Amino acid sequence: MAKILAAVIPEPHASVEVREVSEPELEQGSALLEVELSEVCGTDVYLQQGRLAGVPYPLIPGHVSVGRLDKIRGRMSDVAGRPFAEGERVTFLDVHRTCNACWHCLVAKATTRCPHRKVYGITYGLADGLTGGWAQKLYLKPDTRCIRLGEVDSERFMAGGCALPTALHAVERAGVELGDTVLVLGSGPVGLSVVIFALMRGALRVLCIGAPEHRLEAARKLGAAAALNVETSDEETRAGWVLEQTEGRGADVTIEATGAPVAVVQAMRYTRDAGRVLIVGQYTDHGEVSFNPHLELNKKHLTVRGCWGSDFSHFYRGVQIMADPARSAAWSLLKLDRYRLGEANEALADVAAGKVTKALIAPQA
Ligand SMILES: [Zn+2]
Ligand SMILES: [Zn+2]
Repeated sequence: MAKILAAVIPEPHASVEVREVSEPELEQGSALLEVELSEVCGTDVYLQQGRLAGVPYPLIPGHVSVGRLDKIRGRMSDVAGRPFAEGERVTFLDVHRTCNACWHCLVAKATTRCPHRKVYGITYGLADGLTGGWAQKLYLKPDTRCIRLGEVDSERFMAGGCALPTALHAVERAGVELGDTVLVLGSGPVGLSVVIFALMRGALRVLCIGAPEHRLEAARKLGAAAALNVETSDEETRAGWVLEQTEGRGADVTIEATGAPVAVVQAMRYTRDAGRVLIVGQYTDHGEVSFNPHLELNKKHLTVRGCWGSDFSHFYRGVQIMADPARSAAWSLLKLDRYRLGEANEALADVAAGKVTKALIAPQA
């Protein structure tokens, strides 16, 4: 059997190792994907640091990937019922096995909280097979939802990558309306995609507070009206800056995408009375934070919402937007850095240090 190279995190805090994995036997309705590009995001940094619960180490990271269908066993179809053919370029929803049968799926209609769902590269480990994108080939299990890329450029799509469905879901759930001033806290991949989607959804002005400077420049290039460096300003300066930008009221909508618990409180502070706050940056447990519920929440008459994960609808619409050259043009302004499989540790270090805007693993290089 052919050997496939894969980058593996053996256990928390351990360096990534490149290992040889045997090519799997394909089940009915499954496929082998030759990975062209996979992503390195903040979640992968936390996986390596052992900060996520329920992760079955050793694992191959890489949840959002693009590639070419190398082998298909049986029939695999898209949502329109059209069968996929070997050789086609696809991406796939990293969330698998959402059951559509449990209380969360059927009653609460909150499929992203389905207890049966598994995520490639995060809650599927090496014991489940080639289930991460940092590998020459990835095993697409039966019922994995693939989307044909057609004319969609791989790099363009990966410039959005896993941030694309997350940001789309966040902007939608935040209820951004025509003419809103939207404040985005955080200028990582999710924050930057939130800037683009907020404008697409009709925001009049988008403000961004983040770091480092090269990411704020990116936010401005993407259309942010103003951006402030969180590292070189104190809390009072930031609050004053937001008021200055919003005629003394605060933002209509604030979307938090930082990873820092304190930013959740700041998001409430920077939002106008009766405004909306959307939290999408707390995917890892970084501890507690305190706030004044009278002054910062109740009296302000705020709507505060969390946003966990994304489903096929977010992913599907993200790909459709990327297929439109004009609508997806903003993402082509983001700088991408490519790494080989053997350079995965360097990629993780660069992402952790905020040195790069978007890091990609190119397993065939
Ligand atoms: Zn990710
Ligand atoms: Zn379910």
